[in-house]
Amino acid sequence: MTATHKPNLAGMSLAKLRALFVEFAEKPFRAEQVLKWIHQRGVVDIDAMTDISKNLREKLKQSTVIELPKILEDYKSKDGSRKWIVQVASGSRVEMVFIPEAGRGTLCISSQAGCSLDCSFCATGKQGFNSNLTIAEIIGQLWWANYHLGVFEEKMERRVSNVVMMGMGEPLLNFDNVMDALNIMMDDCAYGLSKRKVTISTSGVVPAIDRLKDYTDASLAISLHAPNDELRSKIMPINNKYPIKELLRSAQSYMDSLSDKRVPVIEYTLIAGVNDHRQHARDLAVLLKQFPCKINLIPFNPFSLSDYRQPSSTSVSNFRQILQKAGYTVTVRTTRGDDIGAACGQLVGDVEDQTRRSDRHKRRHAAGEASKKDGVKVLASTDNLAVTADRL
Ligand code: SAH
Ligand code: SF4
Repeated sequence: MTATHKPNLAGMSLAKLRALFVEFAEKPFRAEQVLKWIHQRGVVDIDAMTDISKNLREKLKQSTVIELPKILEDYKSKDGSRKWIVQVASGSRVEMVFIPEAGRGTLCISSQAGCSLDCSFCATGKQGFNSNLTIAEIIGQLWWANYHLGVFEEKMERRVSNVVMMGMGEPLLNFDNVMDALNIMMDDCAYGLSKRKVTISTSGVVPAIDRLKDYTDASLAISLHAPNDELRSKIMPINNKYPIKELLRSAQSYMDSLSDKRVPVIEYTLIAGVNDHRQHARDLAVLLKQFPCKINLIPFNPFSLSDYRQPSSTSVSNFRQILQKAGYTVTVRTTRGDDIGAACGQLVGDVEDQTRRSDRHKRRHAAGEASKKDGVKVLASTDNLAVTADRL
């Protein structure tokens, strides 16, 4: 629902659209037509949906809306990556990033404005929690990426072939909206992305991982970042609630529920002097012995509010070698879009507001306040922002 309380067609899955048309005493197949218009042809004007009768179009115009978030900024990196700043209804701004590579194009999507989980190495975590994105705001990021990449006009400059829920926020703490958005991503009447190419990344919200199999069969990435509970709890507070053993157990049971053979990706951000020692690699190799997976090493990306340092290239390659020798498939994520602040963990939302947020963060920690849900909203000010794609 939107502020006008009319259903927002842009955020409705096929099942929900079908139910809506049944409510309108219309044929449920209208749902497929509408889904195709919005998500395959990029049409958000009901009058332009020409295979729908005039009567029904009038009805839709009266009782529904099509609303997508706004794009406030469009950045292009030297390496071809793109970053868009997206304004969401709560007043916050979030970021999404497109990374073109040979043979594929990956869109990194945000699920929340900010994040309540406060991992010590993450810029998003430093800003606290602002709001959950609506379904339309999540799927709207894919819509806008397609728009900007010329997909709707079939110019096909580049295609989004993969989606990773690795932007701002913890996707499993915005469970219902993320599940519906994933459903639209993978629907053949919408974006038709393969379940193998849509990945949920989670810091380990165990009860939500346990529920996943009833809602989706997307791929899974687990942000582990440490080989033992002591270290993981230090850098990821969520580990105090859901320790490693429980996390691996729930991830394994999700993978077992899938109809095809797939393994999760273990993400491990290497932070100099914190978790990048050779012994950490050996311990990780032992920890994951009974857990089929691929390992993705991410050299820490620095940002202004963090004292952590990037690991040396020697420690990254030592870490990698130890794991490879132990039999793991290991990839090292190369930093992309660094010049536009688009690298992993650098996403902060409101670029105008970093100083204030930094002060807030310091104050909060100085006062020893535990709660991150302080309701701080990153209010939008469009005064000095170019609205590059405001066609809605
Ligand atoms: N909340 C989810 C998804 C968003 S974070 C999660 O934590 O998995 C996406 C990935 O970026 C995670 O693996 C996260 O640990 C990693 N990351 C966060 N900050 C980083 C930084 N400064 N440098 C490198 N990777 C970082
Ligand atoms: Fe939240 Fe993920 Fe950042 Fe942790 S790494 S603070 S879970 S967005």
